[in-house]
Amino acid sequence: MIINNKNLSKGEKHILKIKITKLSNGNELYLTAHIITGINEGKTIGLIGGIHGDETHCFEFFKNFIEKINPKELSGNIIILPVANPLAFEYCVRNTPEDNLDLNRNFPGNRDGWLTEKIAYVISEELVKKMDYLIDFHTSPPFLHVEYSVISNKAKEKDIAIKLAKSFGFKYIYNSFGYNGAVTTYANEIGITAIATESGPKDDKDSSYYNKMVDKIENALSSIGFIKKEFEFANEYFIFEEDAYGNIRAPVGGIFIPSEQNTLIGKRVTENDVLFRIYDPYTFDLINETRPCFKEADIFLYRKRSVVKPGDYSFMICDTKKLKKVT
Ligand SMILES: [Zn+2]
Repeated sequence: MIINNKNLSKGEKHILKIKITKLSNGNELYLTAHIITGINEGKTIGLIGGIHGDETHCFEFFKNFIEKINPKELSGNIIILPVANPLAFEYCVRNTPEDNLDLNRNFPGNRDGWLTEKIAYVISEELVKKMDYLIDFHTSPPFLHVEYSVISNKAKEKDIAIKLAKSFGFKYIYNSFGYNGAVTTYANEIGITAIATESGPKDDKDSSYYNKMVDKIENALSSIGFIKKEFEFANEYFIFEEDAYGNIRAPVGGIFIPSEQNTLIGKRVTENDVLFRIYDPYTFDLINETRPCFKEADIFLYRKRSVVKPGDYSFMICDTKKLKKVT
């Protein structure tokens, strides 16, 4: 395959530096992509990580996966971009510090636009357009814990999107219109079947998460014929649409305290349960108490004890009345 004008030989692991622009500090800004070219013909799948600079867990499982994958047993090609936004990664923040834009709201980008738009443009032109399938990995920033997959209701091959999502074993699958400018929204619009997975370790001691993610990437590759591997899908998956998706943002700023300190993923709550409280750190007053927006809901994202700004992600829940079992 040819990427960035380089002809990549079959059956190897390549590393490509793809130039974006020159920064005012004198350094060149590059993307670093790992390309695994299979010995056998096949399609191309992309694995993107670090599109948000504070979601850093993918680097460890991508590293382990690349060490393990054998190009001699691969049909097709894998494009892996571990740090999609190197500038945001440098400061471990969600958006690009130079222009404060969210890379995942700026696809397909613009060669002559803001710096974030330039990054999106190079990713779109040099990498995304070479793919048949795409998995965008979002991994819990330090103050969040999350577990679900997102497919697009515009996906060209819905059955493949569901297979890829199920490969990760997360119980909840959100069938979404997609955020404008998200890489998966853009990819699905141009006919590339793309999903996102959102996950992270339970806590600092949960090192098994990284090996499990390598396993799950292998499941995904095997489910669509890139490699041969025996595996079974988990027992239970539920899919839900926009009308069952509750994205609860912090209404005010302050100190955020969730109702419980244990993992809340998969926990069922009712409309009277308190999800979280926000305190004024100056007066110690309780300034907000938030309950679910549905009569009964399951939690798939929650915020840990932290400082919160108005509008920050706090909880994501789904309406249990509208969950559909995936067979
Ligand atoms: Zn993210």
